[in-house]
Amino acid sequence: MNIEPKPATAKGSPDWFTGDVWVDMIAAPHDDRQRMIVSRVRFAPGARTAWHSHEQGQTLHVTGGVALLGTRDGTVIEARPGQTIYTPPGEEHWHGATPDDFMEHLAMLENGDDPATTTVWLEHLPDRDYVRP
Ligand code: MN
Repeated sequence: MNIEPKPATAKGSPDWFTGDVWVDMIAAPHDDRQRMIVSRVRFAPGARTAWHSHEQGQTLHVTGGVALLGTRDGTVIEARPGQTIYTPPGEEHWHGATPDDFMEHLAMLENGDDPATTTVWLEHLPDRDYVRP
């Protein structure tokens, strides 16, 4: 066994996020048979993902602040530290901070057969759809 090297904290791409988002990789595949990806994601107040879906689904575990999560039917839910949110494969959704506070979650997912299609990114979430429940 070994202690994994700590990659530098990476800024979330403005193509995929609105506002400031920082990503720390915790786990990534070491070979082609492994699929697990875990990252710690920190969102500044008001920051959120664009609409997207995950080929194999995604599990999020909130570790700080209050997370807002939305789906295409207009549902927006709040999740608090200690809560875990599961999104099934292919479901289009967004996640982010509240307008007033930082939010941090662990994001856990498995690579698709083609890692390039593990997450499908869509359009940005407009301000009018960024609402609290
Ligand atoms: Mn997601």
